[in-house]
Amino acid sequence: MRYDFLVPSCACPGCGVPLIGASNVWDGDKPQPGDASMCIKCGIISVFDAGMKLRPPTKKEFAKLSRDGRVQQMGMAHTAMRKDTKQ
Ligand SMILES: [Zn+2]
Repeated sequence: MRYDFLVPSCACPGCGVPLIGASNVWDGDKPQPGDASMCIKCGIISVFDAGMKLRPPTKKEFAKLSRDGRVQQMGMAHTAMRKDTKQ
């Protein structure tokens, strides 16, 4: 798995896959607390907490992220990737 930044070890809140690194596909900067993350395995959106571990988004964060065109594009890319790997 390729990633650009090491983050404290944690697990995806959706599927439990271990996470030790992340890449920022939006602006290339190191992820910060409050930034969203999409799990490459299950596609769930999580948020980095103050300790840079993933947590589920609050309802307010989820509503905001759901309207973000970049998040929508990531979701479509993840869906397309999943279809490609099933063939
Ligand atoms: Zn996951």
